[in-house]
Amino acid sequence: MPADGGARKQRQKISVRRGRIREFLESEVYSRLDPQRLYDHAAHLWKHDSAESLKGGCPWHDSKSGSSFVVTKSNLLWWCAG
Ligand SMILES: [Zn+2]
Repeated sequence: MPADGGARKQRQKISVRRGRIREFLESEVYSRLDPQRLYDHAAHLWKHDSAESLKGGCPWHDSKSGSSFVVTKSNLLWWCAG
């Protein structure tokens, strides 16, 4: 076995584990959480609610559309388009 074989094997193990954790979170945890209860800032006032995402107001800036703050339901991550 090459000198770094053990380290490479360990890295592979860790990345497999991370993949399983992500899979577990997405299938067993995120699907049971309600994004509207997680993202409950008063500024959101959700304007669009689809199977994929929520769009509402951003707590940090004013936008004309009121839908610049986007939450992706599958992973519960957000981003602001404003
Ligand atoms: Zn914003």
